[in-house]
Amino acid sequence: MANRFSTPSSSTEGFFQAAPYIQNQFDDDHALQRALKLFLTDQVREELNPELSKFSKLVLTPKITTWINDAERNPPYLKSWDSWGKRRDVLVTSEGWRNLQALGIESGIVAIPYHCERGLYSRVHQFALYHLWAGSAAWVNCPSLMVDGVAALFRKHLSDSAVQGIERDVLRSAYDKLTSRDPNTAWTTGQWMTERAGGSDVSQTETLATYAPSPAESEVTAADGHPLGPWKLDGFKWFSSATDADMVVMLARTQKGISTFFAPMRKTIPASARDALGYETELNGISIQRLKNKLGTRALPTAELVLRGTRGYLIGEDGKGTKEIATVLNIARIHNGFTAIGLWGRGLSVVRAFGRARSVGQKPLLDKTAYVTTVAEMHIQYRADVLFNYFVAALLGAVEQEQIRAFRSVVGGASVAVSGVGRVPGLRDTQMAEHLLRLLTPALKGVTAKTAIAGLAECMECLGGVGYLENDDQVYNIARLYRDANVLSIWEGTTDMMAHDVLRVIYGKTSVAALAAMRGWVKAICKTSGLSKQKNIVSAWWDEWESWLQQVEREEAEMKARVVMERLADVVQGVLLIADAESDGDEIAVEVLNAWLSTRRAGVSLSDDEESGGSWRNESARNLRAVYGVDTPVGRQAKL
Ligand SMILES: Cc1cc2nc3c(=O)[nH]c(=O)nc-3n(C[C@H](O)[C@H](O)[C@H](O)COP(=O)(O)OP(=O)(O)OC[C@H]3O[C@@H](n4cnc5c(N)ncnc54)[C@H](O)[C@@H]3O)c2cc1C
Repeated sequence: MANRFSTPSSSTEGFFQAAPYIQNQFDDDHALQRALKLFLTDQVREELNPELSKFSKLVLTPKITTWINDAERNPPYLKSWDSWGKRRDVLVTSEGWRNLQALGIESGIVAIPYHCERGLYSRVHQFALYHLWAGSAAWVNCPSLMVDGVAALFRKHLSDSAVQGIERDVLRSAYDKLTSRDPNTAWTTGQWMTERAGGSDVSQTETLATYAPSPAESEVTAADGHPLGPWKLDGFKWFSSATDADMVVMLARTQKGISTFFAPMRKTIPASARDALGYETELNGISIQRLKNKLGTRALPTAELVLRGTRGYLIGEDGKGTKEIATVLNIARIHNGFTAIGLWGRGLSVVRAFGRARSVGQKPLLDKTAYVTTVAEMHIQYRADVLFNYFVAALLGAVEQEQIRAFRSVVGGASVAVSGVGRVPGLRDTQMAEHLLRLLTPALKGVTAKTAIAGLAECMECLGGVGYLENDDQVYNIARLYRDANVLSIWEGTTDMMAHDVLRVIYGKTSVAALAAMRGWVKAICKTSGLSKQKNIVSAWWDEWESWLQQVEREEAEMKARVVMERLADVVQGVLLIADAESDGDEIAVEVLNAWLSTRRAGVSLSDDEESGGSWRNESARNLRAVYGVDTPVGRQAKL
C-alpha cells in the first residue's frame, strides 16, 4: 500500500478536509425540538413540522447563501447628489438584501401572529421560523423586528374606537401593509429613538415636534397617497437602521414632553417640480447625513439622519411617548433573544457538523473528550437559553389574545383569538402571564445576548483557523455570525439598561403582583413530587433572591443590577429545565438539567463581597478605584 506521506502535498494533492455536512437544523437541533414539544400541543407540532423542516432546508440552499454573500459583499451605499448637483439621498441596497427581505415577508416572519394563524401558538410558530431564519437573514430581520413592534403599537391604537378620521385611515393602511405577506405591497418601518445625547436615556431627545397643519402642502401627499400629517418634526437622529423602510415611528419633543410620531419616509414631488430624471417621490423632509461603518450587520443600512420639516402624525397621548414606544421595544427585545439563539444555534450546527467530519491525528475529533466537553457545555447553556426564549414567546402569545379580540371587535372580522394560556408549564392565567412577560422580557434580552456572543466566539474556536475566516461559503461563516452577534447586547438597550428595567418592575407600581406571579410560577413547578433535589436547589435560589431584595436599599440593588438580573434568569432557566425534564422523563433532559445546575455550583449569592469589608458602599468605592485609580475621577461630577 502506498505510503500517504511518500509524495509532497500541493494545491491539488494531499489531505483535504471533507466539507462538513450541515444537517437540517430543525431536525438536528434538539434544544429547539424540546422547546416545541414543551410549548406546543402534539397536534400543532405535527402540523408545523413539515413547514419548519422545509424552511430550515431552504435557508441553507445555495440560492439563499448566494443572497447572503451578495448582501455582505455589496453593503448599502448612498448616492447623495445627482449628476447636476441636486441633493437626492438615494440609498442603494443589494439585490441579495432585497431578496432576503422578500423571503422573510412571504414566509410570515412578522405576519403569522397578526393573522393569528395558530391561535395561542402563533408566537411560538413565528419565533420557531425566526430561530431558523436569523443565521441566514443577513439582518433583514432587523427591520422585521421593528415592523412587529410597530404593528403591535398600531393594533393597540386601532382597537381604540376614539381614533377616527384620517388618523384611523393612515394607521389602518400602514398596519395592513406592515402585517402583509405580499412582498410587493408589504412595508417595513424604522424606529428612531437614539440621538447623540443618548440611546439609554431618551429624556434628552432634541428632535422637536410642532403642530402646524399646512394647507399649502396639500397637493403633496405621502408616497402612498395619504395626507402627510399635521405635525412638523425637526431634529437629528443618530442611529437609524432600516433606513430603506417605507415609514418610521420616532420620538420627538412637544410642549408636553416626549411623544411618539408616525411619518411616511417618502412624499410625492408635484408634477410641476419633476425633472428629466423622473423622480416622482422624495424623502419626507429627511436627509441622510452618512451611513455608519460597523463591526458587523454590514448589509443593514444604519444611518444618521437630519429631519427638517418631516411631516407626521402623533401616536397616542401627547407627552407619553416613552410609554408608547415601550410596546415596540418589548417586542423588539424578544426578537433580540431569538436572534441570539438563532445565530448561536446556527454556529452550533456548524460545530456539530465539523465534529462529525474532522479527525485529529488518526482519531475522530469526537473521540477527544476535552473537545466534546467544550461543545457540550455550550449545548447545555444553549438549551437553557432556548427554553427561556420559547417561554417568553408563549407568554406573549397568551397575553396577545385579548389584544387581538379587542382589535377585531373594533375593526371587524371574525375574532380568531382563543381563551386560556395554552401549554405553558406552571402558568395559571393571562394576568400571571402579563406580569411574567413584563419582568422577564428585559432579562431575556440582557442574558441571552451575552451568552450568544461568548458562545459564538467558542464556536469559531471549535473550527480552528477556518472558524476565524470570513468564508465565502456562508453556511460555514461563523465569523460573520460572531461579529454580527456583538450588536445584540447594545441595541434595543444595553445589558445594564436591561438590568435596570428588571429593577424598574421590582420597584415599580406592579411590584407586588409581579413578584407574586414569579413566586407562584416557581413554586407551582417546584412543589410537585419528582426531581425533588433539583427543585429544592432552584426553589432556594428564588427564596434567596427575593429575600435579598427585601433586605437591601434600592441603591445597592442598582449597583448590583446586572447580577440581580442574571440570578433571576438562573431561576427561570432552572425552572424551565426542570419542567422540560419532567414533561416526559427524557433521560437526556434530566442529564442536561443536572449538568446545567452543576455549572451554577458556586451558588447565586448576591451578598456583599467580604474582601471589601462587607459593605456594598465600600465595594462601590473600590470599583471606582479599580477603574480610575482614584476615589473621585475627573468628570465624575459632570452632568450626564
Ligand atoms: C448597529 C446599530 C444599529 C442601531 N439602530 C438603531 C435604530 O434603528 N434606532 C435607534 O433608535 N437606535 C439604534 N441604535 C442605537 C442603540 O439603540 C444605542 O446605541 C443604545 O441604546 C445605547 O445608547 P448610546 O449609544 O447612546 O449609549 P449610552 O446611552 O450613552 O450608553 C453608554 C454606556 O452607558 C451605560 N449607561 C447608560 N445609562 C446608564 C444608567 N442609567 N445606568 C448604568 N449604565 C448606563 C450603557 O449601558 C452603556 O454601556 C443602533 C445601534 C447600533 C450599534
